[in-house]
Amino acid sequence: MIALNKPFTPCLTKLTTYLAQVNESGWYTNFGPLHEQLTKRLEDYLGVKNLLLVSNGTLAIQVACKTLNINSAITTPFSFVATTSSLLWQGIDTAFCDIDAQSYNLCPVALDKALAQNNKYDGIVATHVYGNPCDIFAFDKLARKYRKKVVYDAAHAFGVRVDGQSVLNFGDASTLSFHATKVFHTVEGGAIVFKRREDYEKAKQLINFGLDNGAITDVGINAKLNEYQSAVGLTILDEIDNILAHRAGLFELYKSRLEGVVDMPKWCSSANYNGAYQSILLKDENQKQRVKAKLEACEIQSRDYFSPSLNQVFKSDINMPISEDVAARVLCLPLHFDMSIADAEEVCNAVLQEVGQ
Ligand SMILES: *Cc1c(COP(=O)(O)O)cnc(C)c1O
Repeated sequence: MIALNKPFTPCLTKLTTYLAQVNESGWYTNFGPLHEQLTKRLEDYLGVKNLLLVSNGTLAIQVACKTLNINSAITTPFSFVATTSSLLWQGIDTAFCDIDAQSYNLCPVALDKALAQNNKYDGIVATHVYGNPCDIFAFDKLARKYRKKVVYDAAHAFGVRVDGQSVLNFGDASTLSFHATKVFHTVEGGAIVFKRREDYEKAKQLINFGLDNGAITDVGINAKLNEYQSAVGLTILDEIDNILAHRAGLFELYKSRLEGVVDMPKWCSSANYNGAYQSILLKDENQKQRVKAKLEACEIQSRDYFSPSLNQVFKSDINMPISEDVAARVLCLPLHFDMSIADAEEVCNAVLQEVGQ
């Protein structure tokens, strides 16, 4: 069987050495030494500042919004459910705006129209879908024009750069997920990269019960990343170049074999590939079902990712025609570190047999 995804296995020898350090010091959580090491190494590796580790990517979105005083937001319907549910859970007044038909990212033209009609939102929450950067320069302009805070859900965008600069350096904050299924992981975990130091400082208190040197200064939450999980991160970070190179290689193979036969998201031309996901867009829902069945018969996993369009779940009275159309036709193919080029070839052959040339 070729699995859709498989978490990267950390080297046990290395991991055990870190865990032994934790046991010896007795410092298991609350910004311990491994947490600090991981923070520094991630900042260096990604080329960012003000990176705050948190316990998962969902809380990362919530803490980012809380820190930036975002109480109402306009967001994309084409993302993993957590992009929207994290906002709704926090009581954020949430509206959708449709996506761009080529990139599947929140559409700046549609957003401009929506904000011109109704400027009540504090912020924009946009996902770099599959690791493909949003039109960040257009969003920068809109943020200035309408005075909006921008949070990017960058859960898929680990290691992605635009014109050589980390995509995480755009917007007021970018959030990462280090869930086991992501390109880089700490089993569960995540991070927020803030543009401003003062936001980072505020968020660091918020994720520690709102405590500042023992004094209660705000309504906080507990969203800290512990030392054992930081150890997993440090262990995997040693392998990250290999992981990204292998995944990008698989991504390029898929692209070279399938491009022109099926549609794929149009990638930001100045960004690199991190091989986070491989999605294809079929002609119609029917063809998608046929391809899925064919893959299943070949013991290849695939997934309707992201489907349904989130407005259909959370705001069924409104339509997002482009997002709904993409959600009905999109299919994600296997892509993970333990896959070989031959595995990816096998997946391509199965797809091509069904879709034809
Ligand atoms: C994985 C993911 C999340 C949630 O991250 P967790 O660490 O699992 O909480 C949020 N948004 C997107 C786009 C994701 O893919």
